[in-house]
Amino acid sequence: MEKLEHIGIAVKNLEKSNLLFAKLLGKPHYKIEEVPSEGVRTSFFELGGIKIELLEATKVNSPIARFIEKRGEGIHHLAFEVTDIDKSIQDYSEKGFTLLNDQPKAGADNKQIVFMHPKSTNGVLVELCEDNSQTKKTT
Ligand code: ZN
Repeated sequence: MEKLEHIGIAVKNLEKSNLLFAKLLGKPHYKIEEVPSEGVRTSFFELGGIKIELLEATKVNSPIARFIEKRGEGIHHLAFEVTDIDKSIQDYSEKGFTLLNDQPKAGADNKQIVFMHPKSTNGVLVELCEDNSQTKKTT
């Protein structure tokens, strides 16, 4: 892993939370992006090189909607940057972590992403992400 890339926070209302986090962090979000395949609308803040991703559900039974229903708003996942996501999926599986997918999928912010099952990481949902804009993929 290279670094903590962002922290994902599940929110009920993106507009309200954008205002709240702008007030908290002292700067506005720099983009909003919808990922229809995940049933989610996201906004991004950046502070000291770390991003904060707010996630709002756009479908009733999307993962974020189910998360909020079960646990309420709050920290949803930690995302770590990797340089080769395919290799990371293989490596972490071999180390005994449970990956939710064996192939990366397209996430927000021009990333290839995969999640680890929280059961294998002390209850923390971990996202691995590879930046598409920096790395040329060979597969
Ligand atoms: Zn994320």
